[in-house]
Amino acid sequence: MIELEEALEIILSQVKLVSSEKVDILSSLSRTLAEDVYADFDIPGFDRAAMDGYAVLSKDTNSASKKKPVILEVIANVPAGYSTEKVVKNGRAVRIMTGAPMPKGADAVVMVEDTEKEEEKVKIFRKVTCQKNVSFAGEDVKKGELILSQGSLVRPAEVAMLASLGKENVLVKIKPRVAIISTGDELVEVGRTLQKGEIYDSNSYALFSQVLSSGGEPYRLGIARDKRENLLARIKEGLSYQLLLLSGGVSVGDYDLVTDALKKAGVQMLFWKVAVKPGKPTFFGVRKGTLVFGLPGYPVSSMVNFENLVRPAIFSMLGRDDWQRIRVKAILEKAVSSRGRRKKIIRAKLVKEGDKYLAVPATSQQSSVLKSMVWADSFLILPKEVERIEKGEEVFLELLQ
Ligand code: AMP
Ligand code: MG
Repeated sequence: MIELEEALEIILSQVKLVSSEKVDILSSLSRTLAEDVYADFDIPGFDRAAMDGYAVLSKDTNSASKKKPVILEVIANVPAGYSTEKVVKNGRAVRIMTGAPMPKGADAVVMVEDTEKEEEKVKIFRKVTCQKNVSFAGEDVKKGELILSQGSLVRPAEVAMLASLGKENVLVKIKPRVAIISTGDELVEVGRTLQKGEIYDSNSYALFSQVLSSGGEPYRLGIARDKRENLLARIKEGLSYQLLLLSGGVSVGDYDLVTDALKKAGVQMLFWKVAVKPGKPTFFGVRKGTLVFGLPGYPVSSMVNFENLVRPAIFSMLGRDDWQRIRVKAILEKAVSSRGRRKKIIRAKLVKEGDKYLAVPATSQQSSVLKSMVWADSFLILPKEVERIEKGEEVFLELLQ
C-alpha cells in the first residue's frame, strides 16, 4: 500500500504531453492553449474618448463653473468609428462619442453631463484636467506584449482577448481520449428496467462528466460483465485510448477480476492499493503509453479517486499544472474523526454564517452514499496521523471544481 502523494508521483512520471491542433477561437473555450500569444499591435490603436462629450483644450476650461460657463465653438461631430482632421485650438471643441479617436490639439474630454449645447456652441460648466476622460493608445495591450501563455485554460475572457488581438484561430492541446468501462454483473444500463439485485450503472456517468470537466474526451465503452473473456475483450478495446478508466472489481473478492485481466492484457502494474479512505483498492498501470486506472466500484470512492489521481493526470497531459484544489479556511461545524491508519477524505460543504465560513461535513461518509457527493462542494482532508478534529477548530476545505 502506498501513500496518495506517492501514487500521484508515479502517475505523473508516466504522463506524456498530448499534441496540438489549430481551432477557430469560438471552439477554443475550455481548451488549453498550446502557444504563447503576443500582441501584434497596440489596443486601442489610437487615443480615444472614454466618455460621450466634448474634446477640448483643458486649459480653456479653467474658469468654467455652473454660474459662469465657458462657451466654446463646436467645429465637428465625431461618432465612434469616424474621425476628423480638424484641429482643436483655443476656444474650440469637437463633439465626440465614447470610443472615437481624439482630434488633434484636444487633450481632454468634458463629459456631456457637464455641458449644454447651444446651436454651434457649447456651454462648459466644469473644469477638466489634462488627459481627463481620454483612454490612450496601448492602454489595454502594448504591441509585442505577451498576453496569453501556453498551458493556460481558455475562458470567456481569453476568447474575447483573442478576438481583440484579431486572431481567428488559436493553437490548443488535443483533448486526451479517455475510455470508460464499468464492471459488474449487477449493473444495468439506464433506460432498462431493474430486476431484483440489480442497480443502474452510475460510475461511468460520473467518470464521463469528470473527464469532460477536466478537459478530456470521454468515451463510454459500456458495462463489462464479471467474466474473464468479456472483461478482457473490453480492456483490449480500451487500450487503444490514451487513458483507460475501469470501475469496480479491483479489490480481492471472488468476482474482482479486473487486476488479473489487466495483467493478462499486458498492462504493467505500477501500484494497486493506496492508503486513502475512501479509495483504497485502486490499480494503476501502463501499456504502450496508455495510462490505465482500475478505480473502486463504490460510487463515492470512484469519484474521489478520480479527483485525486485522474484529474491531475489529464491536466498534466494537457500541459496544465493547476490541478491543486483551492484551499479555504473555515471553522469546523461538527467534530470529525478517523481511525488514523489512512488519509481520510471527508465530503464537506462551505457554508457562510454571518461573517464566518463554516466547514460542514456530510452526514454520511460511507463510500456507497452518492448523495454525499451531490451535497458536498469540497473535501476536508484528515492526514493519517490525525484521529480527530473538534468542533470549532480551524480547518482547510479544498474546493471541488
Ligand atoms: P466492487 O468494487 O465491484 O465490488 O463494487 C463495490 C460496490 O460498488 C458494489 O456495491 C457495486 O454494486 C457498486 N458498483 C460497482 N460498479 C458500479 C457502477 N458502475 N455504478 C454504481 N455502483 C457500482
Ligand atoms: Mg463488482
